[in-house]
Amino acid sequence: MPEAWLIRKTDDYDRFKYSVGDWSAGMIPRVGCPSCGEVRTWGLSYPSVDLQVLGEDVLRWLKRGRDSRIESLSLEQYRELEQTLAPLLGPNRPLRPLTNLGPSTGLAEGAFPDFTWAGGLVGDIFMRRSVFETVCAAGFALTGIKANLQYRRERKDPLIQLEILPGLHVHEAQRPELCATCGFANERPKGIRISPDDFDDTIPLQRIYERPDFIVANAAFSAFVRERELTAVRLAPVIFE
Ligand SMILES: [Zn+2]
Repeated sequence: MPEAWLIRKTDDYDRFKYSVGDWSAGMIPRVGCPSCGEVRTWGLSYPSVDLQVLGEDVLRWLKRGRDSRIESLSLEQYRELEQTLAPLLGPNRPLRPLTNLGPSTGLAEGAFPDFTWAGGLVGDIFMRRSVFETVCAAGFALTGIKANLQYRRERKDPLIQLEILPGLHVHEAQRPELCATCGFANERPKGIRISPDDFDDTIPLQRIYERPDFIVANAAFSAFVRERELTAVRLAPVIFE
């Protein structure tokens, strides 16, 4: 069996006093499916996607900021948007309703621990630039994006937002049923067991597609987190089956 660990917040996480703006540059709205209702599949986030290459005719379908008037799309509108965005996303960034695109925006303040977690459901992870550089220098190929955050005072060590792709699936037996009309699952999986055949242990961090708030670290990256005693993170074993 491979070794892998879930990256979770520490239990005493509240002792770190900070906040990070967690609005992405653009979010795919909810989608109304004629069969299963309103599809709310939260949790995927691709901060590296550059929305600036898109025209206003496409951007107007995305939810941008708190004041966006777009609340939901019809399935036909969603399909059209999906087709338009496909070349920008490439094959490793599956799209679905409530996917976040582009770097986070908003105000960031306080003292940031080594693993800085945005609020909300996405669970985006940020690292101070110095921590990110240490991780990269140790040979871990992480994708980091300069988040679009505003600080009250200038930071020598600003936050880098990690892009963590959903390379893993839960075990077949635990996957929820997909709607025949829209193709999405409108419920959570029955658990988060992983099939060992599905696991590529060369990837330092990856999300579980059916539960993107669960992030899996490979053995090497987990060992690094322990050795360096990185703060605001704990490791829980992944169960393979
Ligand atoms: Zn449906």
